[in-house]
Amino acid sequence: MWNEKLEERLVRYCAIATPSDSASPTAPSTACQWDLLRLLEQELRDMGASEVELGEFGHLMATVPGNCDGPVIAWMAHVDTSPQFNGLGVKPLVHRNYQGQDLVLPDDTSQVISPSEFPYLKGKVGHDIVTASGISLLGADDKAGVAIVMTLAEHLLKNPQIPRAKTRLCFTPDEEVGRGVKHLDFAKLGAKYAYTLDGGDVGELCYETFSADKAVITVTGVSIHPGYAKDKLVNALHLACQIVEMLPKVIRTPETTEGRQGFIHASSLQGTSSEAVIQLILRDFELEGLKSHHELIESICHSIQLAEPRAQVKVEFTEQYRNMRYWLDKEMSPVHMASEAFRKANIEPNLTVLRGGTDGSWLTEKGLLTPNLFAGMQNFHGPLEWVSIQDMAQAVGVCVELVQLWARQPVAPAG
Ligand SMILES: [Zn+2]
Repeated sequence: MWNEKLEERLVRYCAIATPSDSASPTAPSTACQWDLLRLLEQELRDMGASEVELGEFGHLMATVPGNCDGPVIAWMAHVDTSPQFNGLGVKPLVHRNYQGQDLVLPDDTSQVISPSEFPYLKGKVGHDIVTASGISLLGADDKAGVAIVMTLAEHLLKNPQIPRAKTRLCFTPDEEVGRGVKHLDFAKLGAKYAYTLDGGDVGELCYETFSADKAVITVTGVSIHPGYAKDKLVNALHLACQIVEMLPKVIRTPETTEGRQGFIHASSLQGTSSEAVIQLILRDFELEGLKSHHELIESICHSIQLAEPRAQVKVEFTEQYRNMRYWLDKEMSPVHMASEAFRKANIEPNLTVLRGGTDGSWLTEKGLLTPNLFAGMQNFHGPLEWVSIQDMAQAVGVCVELVQLWARQPVAPAG
C-alpha cells in the first residue's frame, strides 16, 4: 500500500547530493545537507505535521499529535550519505518487477549487482529494486530510512483512527562522520524512546553495536642532514612501520574477524623522517576486549621506545562510542516491543549485532534508548548499493504496528 509513495520519495531524495565531510568544522559538515532538510521541512508542513522545526545544527523535528496516552516515541533517520564513495550526481534507477537477472549499471557496465554474489537479491524476484547508475553510491543509507519515516508520518496523519501517542519525527545530519546527534537537544525532542531506521535486511533488529575508541600514535625521530647523519639520525618512518608491522595481523584485523570478534585497524600512516603519525581504530563488543586492544598498542609502543630511546613514541586514546547493549540490557522494553511489532507484521525478528555504530549508540549512552530497525539497504557506501521498495514497505508496516503497541502502554509517572 505504501510502495508508490516510498519509491517516489526515495528516488527524489537520493537525487539530492548530501555527502557529509569529516574534515569540515561546521555543523552540519556540508551545506548541501540543508537542501534535503529544507525539502523535508516543507513536505512535513504540507502533510499537516505540527511543531515542524529545523534547528541551527540541522536537526529537523516534527510531531504527529497523539490521540491516546503512551510514551512519546521518536522516529529517526539521517539525511547525509557516506563520504567513502562518490555521492554526487546520483541517478537512481528503478528496476521494476525484478526477475532474478544480473543488474548491470549503465554508466559503468563493469558494475554488476549479481544474485550469485549477493544472495539476498535472490529472494527479491517480483520486487522493485532501486540502484544507482554505476558511478556513485545510491544513498539508500539512509534515504530509505528517511522515506520510511516520512511515509509513516503521512500514514498516521491521514488515518486519525489509528491509535498513537504523541509521535516525534527527527531527521539528523552527519551520521556517517559520527557526529550527527552530538548537538541534539534532547529536551526539545522530548521522547521517552527512539528508533533509528538505518539497517539492512528485513527482520534486522539491532540493539548491540561496537564499543569504539581511536588511537593516535606520534613518533618523533631525530632529524639531521642525511649526508652527515651517521649514528645521529633517527628515522620516524622506519619506527612507525615497525609499529604497524607488530600489530597482530591474523587475529585482530577487520579483514580476519567477524561476528562478535573485535579488531584493531590501522587506518592511516602519514609523516616524514622526522615525525610520523599512525591512526588506529579499536573496536570490540566488550569493554574488556577494548581494554586488551589498548594494552597491546601500549606495549608495542613501549617496546619501540625502549629499543630506540632517542625517539619519542606517544600514544593517545580517544573514546568514540559504546555498545548500546550496556544500557538496553537494563531496560529491554524498546527491543521487546519492536520484536512484538515485527511478529504482528509477520516478520521474524533477527536480533543482530552491528559491527559498527549508529546514532543510537551515542543517544542510548546519553539516556535515550534507541535500537536500530531495518530499512532494507544493501551494499551501502559503494556503487553496488541497492534497496527493494517492498522491503521498505515492510519497514513502514513494522513502524505502524509499533506505534499502536506503544499507544497502549501506560506512561510512567513523572519523577
Ligand atoms: Zn546509515
